[in-house]
Amino acid sequence: MHKREFLKITGLSIAGMALANNLFADNLNDDFSVEKITNLSHSIAPFELPKLNYAFDALEPHIDKQTMEIHFSKHHQSYVTNLNKALENDALKGKTLLEILGKVTAKQAAIRNNAGGHYNHMLYWEIISPNPQNMPTGTLLDAIKTQFGSVDALKEQLSKAGMERFGSGWAWLCMDKKKKLFVCSTPNQDNPLMKKLVKQQGTPLIGIDVWEHAYYLKYQNKRAEYLKNFFNVLDWAKVEKKFGA
Ligand code: MN
Repeated sequence: MHKREFLKITGLSIAGMALANNLFADNLNDDFSVEKITNLSHSIAPFELPKLNYAFDALEPHIDKQTMEIHFSKHHQSYVTNLNKALENDALKGKTLLEILGKVTAKQAAIRNNAGGHYNHMLYWEIISPNPQNMPTGTLLDAIKTQFGSVDALKEQLSKAGMERFGSGWAWLCMDKKKKLFVCSTPNQDNPLMKKLVKQQGTPLIGIDVWEHAYYLKYQNKRAEYLKNFFNVLDWAKVEKKFGA
């Protein structure tokens, strides 16, 4: 490569990085479109708590205000804080959130738990809405019908995955590399992007938090009730965009 060409390419990539950093900074104060959450997943440490584009009480009565407030500003914040702390002396520092999830191993417990916690909660806030599109349409609806039979059958599988998760964890609808859909569940804050830690890898489209902190104040021990009501705030428009992306 000629020196002039090299300088040109290097200059461009530095300009690109500066632009990307600005975009990430802007995202933290902006709403929660799929494009933006994708950008957040490509951001690097220090990670920050994103901003919700609805009020804590906006999902009532399905998810109550106090649960939202504590879940977002205490639980999610602590995953962010502890992720930044855990990355301080780790080789994964400087990697994007998605890269961290793809590379993290069982030996890096703090990063595993907190990078998972940060990503999983960003997805969760993103796909719920006070004004949800209550049914999937288009190619996603077709794929659901082909693979699960019906939207209700898919909801049943997701609820079952959430109910069978012993202790804390998540129920997922994911797509694999060929955009084939599958339902699974992971313990704690693991997710299907953790290539070295899960049996079945995939890109999450729906993530349902079944930790007690997500529902206990309103639903106490009735996880099934929470799961049923979760679907009242699930915004299929967001899921469709992720499936198409
Ligand atoms: Mn949670």
